[in-house]
Amino acid sequence: MTKRILFSLLSLAFAFSPLTTATNSVQPINRLNEVQHRISIQGPQNYEGVRQLMGWLKQSDYDIAGVNWKNGLIEVITDDSGLAKLNQYRISYSIIKSRRSGIDSIEKIDSRFLNPQTVESKLKQLSQQFPQFTRLEQIGSSNQGRPIWAMLLSSTPQKNDPAYFNKPTLIVDGMHHAREIMTSEIVMDVADVVLGMKRMVTPWNQIMDSWNIWIVPMLNVDGNNIVWTQNNWWRKNGRANNNKVFGVDINRNYPFRWNTCNGSSGSATSDTYRGDKPGSEPETQALARLGYMTNPTASLSYHSYSEIVLYPYGCQGSFTSQAALYQKVGNELAKMIPNDSGNGTYTAGTPWQLLYSVDGDSMSFMHSEFGALSFTLEVNQSFQPPYELRAPTLAKHRKAWTYFLQRTSQNLFSLKVTASLRNRGNTESFAAGDATVAISSINNTLGEKPFKTNPAGNFFKVLDPGFYNITVKLADGRSKQFQIEMKGQPLTEMIQF
Ligand SMILES: [Zn+2]
Repeated sequence: MTKRILFSLLSLAFAFSPLTTATNSVQPINRLNEVQHRISIQGPQNYEGVRQLMGWLKQSDYDIAGVNWKNGLIEVITDDSGLAKLNQYRISYSIIKSRRSGIDSIEKIDSRFLNPQTVESKLKQLSQQFPQFTRLEQIGSSNQGRPIWAMLLSSTPQKNDPAYFNKPTLIVDGMHHAREIMTSEIVMDVADVVLGMKRMVTPWNQIMDSWNIWIVPMLNVDGNNIVWTQNNWWRKNGRANNNKVFGVDINRNYPFRWNTCNGSSGSATSDTYRGDKPGSEPETQALARLGYMTNPTASLSYHSYSEIVLYPYGCQGSFTSQAALYQKVGNELAKMIPNDSGNGTYTAGTPWQLLYSVDGDSMSFMHSEFGALSFTLEVNQSFQPPYELRAPTLAKHRKAWTYFLQRTSQNLFSLKVTASLRNRGNTESFAAGDATVAISSINNTLGEKPFKTNPAGNFFKVLDPGFYNITVKLADGRSKQFQIEMKGQPLTEMIQF
C-alpha cells in the first residue's frame, strides 16, 4: 500500500486561530493541546480483509469512528503517534481534518440539533401536554450533576396502575456516545410519533394500549455538553479527576461480561475505556435502573455511525440462545432501512461480525439481564451530518422501529401467573410476581439471569414459531410445566397455582 496523505488539507487545518484562554474548568485531559486527526483508511476490497484491519485497529486502541461497508472505508480519530504507527505498518490513509483540541476543537454543529437542555425542556413540555399518556422520571444524575431523564409513553402511565404491568415494555435509548447527535433526534421522534404529534403511524394510539415505551433520548448528558462546548469529537462521559476529564465509555461499562474479551480498554485515555469497575458510571447505572424498574421485553439502542443493525453478543464467536430469531429480525430491519447514499441498505450482524469485539455494552446487558430482544442501530455515515439529513433519517427509522414493535407484538408470548395461598383452604388468588420462568431451547449458559414475572405476575417473551416447554416456579418452590405452540401470532397463557 502507498502512503496517501493530503498535505493541502493538513496545512489548511493547521492555520490555527489565536490562542484564547479556556474559560471552562473542565477540559478533556487526553485531548488537550494534542493534535487530532480524522482520517479515512481504505480497507481491502473484501469483507474479511476489512474486518481483520478493524480488529487490528481496535487492538492497537485506535478510536474507530465508523465504517462504510459498501466501499471498505474506515474512519478513525487519532493523534500524531497513531499516524506514525500507520506509516510504520504501511497502512494507507487520507486525512479528512486535523486540528488541535482545546483550541479549535469545535466545529460548528447546527444549533437546531438537540442538546441536554433542549431535550429536558422538550420532555417536560410533552409531559405537561400529555399527562394522560406520559410519565417523566429522572433516572439518575451524571458525574457533573446533570439530570438524566426517561419518559414513559403509555395509555396507563400511572405508577400505581395495575394495568401498567399487563403490558410488555420497550426501552429506546440514545446518546450513549456524546458525539452521536442524530441518536437523540431519533429517540425523541419516537415520543412525537407515539403521542400522535406526527401522523406517520395510522393507529398510533394502539401502540400505547399494547406497550409501555420508555424513551431515554440523552443518556450521556455530560459528554454531549462537552461536544457542544469543547470538543465535538468527544465520545465518552464526563468522568473527571481533579476537574480533568478523562471520560469512561459508558457502552463498555455495563456489568455483563465487563472486561472479558478484549472488547474494551483499561487505559483511561482510550476512547473505549471501560471504567475502573463494572457499572461504575452514573449514566450506566441510570439505564440499568430503568431496566430493573421496567423489566423490558425489547430494547432499541441508537448509535452512529456505520448503517448497521447489531444484535448480541459482543464478544468474538458469542451468540445468544435466540440467535436464529435475532438473525431473522436483524436482517428484516436492515433490509428495510436504505443507506444514506441510496445505493443499498443497512447490514445486520453481531458487533464482532461487523465491527470488533465489544464487552460491557448495553445491548448485551439488556438481553442477559432481562431477556429483552435487544438491538443496536448505527445510523448515518457520519456523526454530525447536515441538519437536512435529520428528516429523512427520522422517516426511515420510524418505519423500522414501528415494524419492530409490530414484529415483536406478532410473536409475543404473554404469561400471567396467579397463585392461591398455600394450606389456607381459600380460593383467593394473588398475582405471582417474582416467579421464575424457564423456556426449553433457551439454554442460558453465559451468565444470563433467569426470567422473572413482574409484580403483577406477568411475563412477556418474543419467541419464534415452534413448540416450547415452559416451566414456572414460584418463590415457595411450587412449579408447573406446560407446552405452548407459537404460530407467528400472539399467545396468552394463564397459569394458576
Ligand atoms: Zn456509539
